[in-house]
Order: sequence, then structure tokens, then C-alpha cells
Amino acid sequence: MRAAAFCILMMGSSALAGTEVTNRRLEQGQTILGALEAANVSAASALRLIDALDDVFDVRQARSGHQLRIVRVDGFVEHLDYRVGPLDEYQVRRDGWRYIGEKRVVAFERKVARFEFDVEKSLWQAAISTGTDPVIVMALADAFGWELDLMRNARLGDRAKVLVETLEHRGRIVRYGDVLAASYTPVKGAKMEIYRYLLPSGERAYFFSDGTSAQRTFLKTPVGWAPVTSPFGNRIHPIFGEPRFHDGIDYGMPVGTPVRAVASGLVTFAGYTPGGGNMVCLMHEDDYESCYLHLSRFAQGIQTDALVYRKQVIAWSGNTGNTTRPHLHFNLKKRGGYVDPSRQKFPRTDPLPNELLADFSAVVSDYSGQLRDVGVPVMASP
Ligand SMILES: [Zn+2]
Repeated sequence: MRAAAFCILMMGSSALAGTEVTNRRLEQGQTILGALEAANVSAASALRLIDALDDVFDVRQARSGHQLRIVRVDGFVEHLDYRVGPLDEYQVRRDGWRYIGEKRVVAFERKVARFEFDVEKSLWQAAISTGTDPVIVMALADAFGWELDLMRNARLGDRAKVLVETLEHRGRIVRYGDVLAASYTPVKGAKMEIYRYLLPSGERAYFFSDGTSAQRTFLKTPVGWAPVTSPFGNRIHPIFGEPRFHDGIDYGMPVGTPVRAVASGLVTFAGYTPGGGNMVCLMHEDDYESCYLHLSRFAQGIQTDALVYRKQVIAWSGNTGNTTRPHLHFNLKKRGGYVDPSRQKFPRTDPLPNELLADFSAVVSDYSGQLRDVGVPVMASP
């Protein structure tokens, strides 16, 4: 079998070159195999190409929009380029009788960009009206997420400045990295500045300039970006039509949104309940317990007594149990009684240890200079 393939490929490459290049884009629901077959690559060749590609790229992660470039010489595939994004390219090339997959090394430069904007109506609109990529706003809100709920509490006249790491390829920003530093100046109240620091463990964390942590032991929400469709407290129940106490917060979101543990803890329940549908409950320090309801499915390993970490994805949102539309119901108990998660003052995580303070101060003076420096160009839309 191998000898036959060898012969055919050798004949292909030694014949007069007739090179043909085919570009395709994966369509919604299409597999790589489907795309190759649609480009008239034989099933046998397609499977061998995919096999080689899978050595360097998990082909189950294939998504619509990924690009394929097929180069054929006299009908035989010489190489296949598979492009996930500007910095993420793979190539399968023929080497004698076999195909070899490799990740292409794309040269990029790491730079720092500064953005600043005034809030007019909402933070989101402020970003859009100044041509700032909404990704920056999300990163900014995430970095400040333990202190301020910027999406809901931004006020007219507030001012935000942010330093972001960028990856550039041929002069274009192709990806944003971490928020390195950010300041937020509300019209009322004190200005806040936070700085990213890479801990010796490799973890990224945010601190204020004196080394106090800008993060807390609990996340503000298990989902980050979803809108609150029903807050904690008394309301008219959507199914029973009568006033009822709502013991948690509802976030509207499509089925399948990742749900994260708001703090490290132990799983006390993971299963189906008639009203709550698929539900996970966690026990945390300081006598807190959090529950996540109406889930579509649980993450691997989520079962009673499993240990979970803050921000770990524990499940995906759904529409199971008593619901009128897909959403996550999140509730929090303190010493057995329901509390409003949005009104809790959670403790800060540990400050920077003394031995890192000198190094951190150097980071702070560098970033705070760049945050203020008028010499650093303010980015318009990338
Ligand atoms: Zn609810």
C-alpha cells in the first residue's frame, strides 16, 4: 500500500509542473474533510492531509471562517495551508511519500498602545465613538472588575486611560494582549490606577501602586458580560405572575455560555433538580455558598467533593428546569441565608510580598509614565 502511494507521488512531482492553487474558507458547519472534498481533493488524500494537520492543530477546533489554501501540482496536493488567524497558521507539506504538518512561525512585534476616552453615555459608546476596539473596553472592565462594574456604573464625564499590549504583524495590530495598566477617573470619587504584574508563579495579577491587590477573592459575576435580566430581591415572578422574592441574579445569555466559579471552593452538589434544572453548588471560605442553575451541561470533573478554582469553567449555561428563556440564575448564601451578590464586599487577595515590591515599583513607574506621556500616540481605530 505504501509502495503504491510512493510511486504515484513520485510520478506526480517528476512530471511537468502544472500548479493549481485553490483558496477556500470553512463554511458554517463544514468540516475540513468537507472543504477538501468540495475542492475536489480525493477522500484518501484528504484523510492523510488531515491526519498530518492534526499533529499540530486539533482539527476538532476547526471553525467557520478558517482558511485553506491547497497547492496542487499535476493534480497531487503538494501542500495545504490552514489559517486560523493572522498569527495562527499551519502547513501540511509533502515530504516524499508522506505528509508532515507544522505550525508556521509568523513574525510579530510586541508593542504597547495607549487608549483614552471620556464616557458620554456609556463606556461602550464612549469606546465606539472614539474608534476604540470594543475588545479594549472588555479588557478594561475585566481588569477593574473587582472594584467597579464599569458596564453598569460608568457615568457621563468619567475618563478612562488604558495601556494595552499589542501584537503587530506587518504594521497592523492583529491581537491585543493584557491590559498593562489602566486609570479610571470618575466625575465623583477618587481616581483609580491599577497595574498588571506577572507573579513568579506565572499568574497575571492586578495591583494598586502600593502593592495592594486590586483583585478580590470572589468574582463580581460568574459570567462577565451577560446583561442582568432580573436582579436580586422582590419581583413579579415570570411564570407564577405573583410577587416573589428572587433569591439570586438572572443573567440572560445564549445556551452554552461558559459559567465560572466565582471563588475557589468545593462542589457540594452537581445534578438535576426539578425547578433549578441542572445545577452546581459550591462551598467557599467565609461561610459562602454559590449555586448556578438552569445549566445545559457540566464541565468535566464537576462532581460532589471536587475542588474548583476561582474563574474555572464549571458548566455551560442552558434552559433547564423552570425557565421562560435561556439564562443563568446565580445565587449566593452567607451562613445559610441568601444575600445580594452585587452588594457583598469580598476580601482582597494577598498583597504583593515585600521582596517583590522593588521590582513592582519599577513596573509602576514605567507604566504610569506611559499612561501620562503625551509623546505616546493615542491610538485611533486599529
Ligand atoms: Zn432567577
